[in-house]
Amino acid sequence: MSKNNDELFKNVISHAKEYGFVFQSSEIYDGLSAVYDYGQNGAELKNNIKTYWWKSMVQMHENIVGIDAAIFMHPTTWKASGHVDGFNDPMIDNKDSKKRYRADQLIEDKIARYEKDGKTQKAEELQTAMDEALKADNLTALRDLIVEHEIACPISGTRNWTDVRQFNLMFSTKIGAVADEADVIYLRPETAQGIFVNYLNVQKTGRMKIPFGIAQIGKAFRNEVIARQFIMRMREFEQMEMQFFVRPGTEMEWYEYWKQTRLKWHKAVGTDPAKYRFHDHTKLAHYANAAVDIEFQFPFGFKEVEGIHSRTDFDLSQHQQYSGKKLQYFDPEINQNYVPYVIETSIGLDRMFLLTLINAYEEQDLSEGDKKDSRVVLKLHPCLAPVKAAILPLTKKDGLPEKAREIMDRLKLDHNLVYEEKDSIGKRYRRQDAIGTPFCITVDHQSLEDNTVTIRHRDTMEQERVAIDQLERIIGDLVSLKNLLV
Ligand code: ATP
Repeated sequence: MSKNNDELFKNVISHAKEYGFVFQSSEIYDGLSAVYDYGQNGAELKNNIKTYWWKSMVQMHENIVGIDAAIFMHPTTWKASGHVDGFNDPMIDNKDSKKRYRADQLIEDKIARYEKDGKTQKAEELQTAMDEALKADNLTALRDLIVEHEIACPISGTRNWTDVRQFNLMFSTKIGAVADEADVIYLRPETAQGIFVNYLNVQKTGRMKIPFGIAQIGKAFRNEVIARQFIMRMREFEQMEMQFFVRPGTEMEWYEYWKQTRLKWHKAVGTDPAKYRFHDHTKLAHYANAAVDIEFQFPFGFKEVEGIHSRTDFDLSQHQQYSGKKLQYFDPEINQNYVPYVIETSIGLDRMFLLTLINAYEEQDLSEGDKKDSRVVLKLHPCLAPVKAAILPLTKKDGLPEKAREIMDRLKLDHNLVYEEKDSIGKRYRRQDAIGTPFCITVDHQSLEDNTVTIRHRDTMEQERVAIDQLERIIGDLVSLKNLLV
């Protein structure tokens, strides 16, 4: 990460805390590693991202419905899905620092260093060797690469490594009052399985016809070996997933459709298109016949935000086998029964949140001549902004607060607003800029005479005088999700 990017990222993290977006979990007890809480503005922003996703997936597609499955699931679910046996990360410990690392991430860091030093061939060779070792589940080969390429522990600086071992990422707990081995259950590591096990329930009760989709937003838990980069890699996070059930043989058409549709969703909020790219998986999971990541250029490089996977009939077939229940579809068009194929779109809500914050964050120098001035502004799309408008009486007297409250009462049914009368109007504007409020509505003495107010626009800082009667329409038009969905 270059110094500028490093600094930008640090500033975004402090801004997120200072303005009530994201806090370290249980901070008064020194925090819990890789677990975060969303504050008053963060919760609003997160909800707005969820609504944008939910409406564009469920409301805008007649053949997609949404569910809300439980976090706890029958333990056999995770046997069938392959998570009990295969949801592992290869880990290695340094004997001197006692620090634990993901073996593949240590190697990836080395590859990045080779690339930075212009040693492209070495980087490519190491990448290929690592891919082969991972594919073959060859843990000894992974360790050999660490030794051969003289990878040292970033803390102790030594190369005194343990063997590489597999580490299952699922959290387990016990259900019921009397706990024994048989009662072990897991916190779901992905929301997708809640959709697969409900495939038949939804298909039958909703009389769904293929192709159709089931969407869900919910928490997922992974005991990540190492957590880094703020809310990028958390142990408790949220996913927005959709499984689209299709006739076998048509999956590639739908795969292409969802690739393009999802990228369009990302770009609609005004993010620079050059910051997005597709990254095709060359090493496919055993159940997939195509997979791509939508990556965003974070300050620490291009990283995955969303995955689009063609999962064949793997999951439904596995659940069919383990449960003994038929999970099939009778397709009247071809007069055949089959287990549907699935295209999955899976986006991390917290990563989307981080992306949105980074993309919106701007430090502006507003100095004019000798007069120094600056501001931090979050240029969030108005649909996503936590607060849509601030209502600001110019002074605390002369009936201005009463007039401002009247406006507030009219608008608050539709929008999340704040009312502020403390400090100078300039300071109040800056506070709203910092949380991304698109409009500041100022009530002054003229408002009492002619029922007009000024609207100050966040990005241009321009002000216009408008009739109070027009506010509902002006704000409503600009913050409406219609701007993104149609
Ligand atoms: P990565 O390779 O970064 O670990 P993944 O390929 O394991 O991610 P998936 O299992 O495809 O991720 O999950 C879908 C999405 O869930 C990812 O694109 C990401 O946005 C999000 N996600 C996965 N793990 C985490 C995590 N630990 N913290 C936050 N978001 C996550």
